[in-house]
Amino acid sequence: MKKHNFYAGPSILTPYTIKNTADAVIDFANTGLSILEVSHRSKEFQAVMDEAQALVKELLDIPAGYHVLFLGGGASLQFAMVPYNLLQTKAAYLDTGVWAHKAIKEAKLFGDVEIVATSEDKNYNYIPKHYTVPEDVDYFHYTTNNTIYGTEIRKDPDVKVRMVADMSSDIFSRPVDVSKYDIIYAGAQKNLAPAGATIIIVREDALGHVTRQIPTMLNYKTHADKGSMFNTPPVLPIFSALQTLRYYKEVGGVKEMEKRDLAKAAKLYEAIDSSRVFEATVKDHEDRSIMNVCFVLKPEYAEMEKAFIDFASTKGIVGIKGHRSVGGFRASLYNALPMESVDVLVAAMKEFENKL
Ligand SMILES: *Cc1c(COP(=O)(O)O)cnc(C)c1O
Repeated sequence: MKKHNFYAGPSILTPYTIKNTADAVIDFANTGLSILEVSHRSKEFQAVMDEAQALVKELLDIPAGYHVLFLGGGASLQFAMVPYNLLQTKAAYLDTGVWAHKAIKEAKLFGDVEIVATSEDKNYNYIPKHYTVPEDVDYFHYTTNNTIYGTEIRKDPDVKVRMVADMSSDIFSRPVDVSKYDIIYAGAQKNLAPAGATIIIVREDALGHVTRQIPTMLNYKTHADKGSMFNTPPVLPIFSALQTLRYYKEVGGVKEMEKRDLAKAAKLYEAIDSSRVFEATVKDHEDRSIMNVCFVLKPEYAEMEKAFIDFASTKGIVGIKGHRSVGGFRASLYNALPMESVDVLVAAMKEFENKL
């Protein structure tokens, strides 16, 4: 049966990415070797790295003065690397959920942290508004898309200080004004590649302002100076990332991805909002994520949760169980998910509802 992959991460990749990765595992770039067994210093892999970095710059329209890095350690390592490299005295953080919280915890190891606003009072089901970012901080950090709660900030904020964003689960889903940011980071496993690589876009001028000693591997400058090849990079995920980036470019770039993502999300939210039995957990339309759509059964049908997941699985639908801290369902509509899968989910919801 055809599967419809709604996993939150690692998550669906384009068929183009999977096919080319599978082929390269057998024979990489006509070398007669597998991508799993070639030197990262080979000219064939250097070409992969160069093109991947160039395509990230092109797709996100990154101005001069930025480096694009592919490092290991996941987005979670960035929670520590950002303050290690940027936090001298004080930083400002927006608290929009688990990932933001984890970033805050690490930052506190390096200096003062001011939480400018939080939506913890309602289990993070909205985006805090009307907060001010103090001007005496080293940087402001926020999470663009809250993967667990299905909230998203789709407009690059205007602040007067350096800005850092965790874009793990919505990078490449819209054009971004990179010039507003000093660091953007994203684990690859949501919208780009298999797990194992983290993409980091760092402004050259953001580095070198803290007085502390930074261990070599945790210093962005180490990696920036060596074109992300200081040590062995995650070769296979970078190869796969390149395939996805080529696909994005081929179909029209991040503007086209945004158009598709908006259409998919609109269709699913509309089905949820018009349902007799389901309801969205994020009420304010402006705050709704177009990447992770969270919904629940209305209280009177709450005991049918497992029944719906089981029913959906008979239609090939995989990965819609909500995160344990929210419950219910979460359908992740990442770039690689086709509209057809949304149609199958919507049809399954209607069929289930009609049987109740
Ligand atoms: C998945 C995710 C992370 C964690 O990524 P790892 O690569 O597992 O460390 C961090 N932030 C956001 C927004 C995420 O969605």
